[in-house]
Amino acid sequence: MYKCLLCGRKIDIDIQSADKIICPSCGYRILEKERPPVVRKVESV
Ligand SMILES: [Zn+2]
Repeated sequence: MYKCLLCGRKIDIDIQSADKIICPSCGYRILEKERPPVVRKVESV
């Protein structure tokens, strides 16, 4: 999952083709890789 740095649109794309990724919305080429939210397990005593 990538996020366009310009318009903030989230783009689901394969890493293999990450060489040529552009935002389908605005055409911006710089996309930020988004990490899935980490779910922390907190055990309450
Ligand atoms: Zn964009």
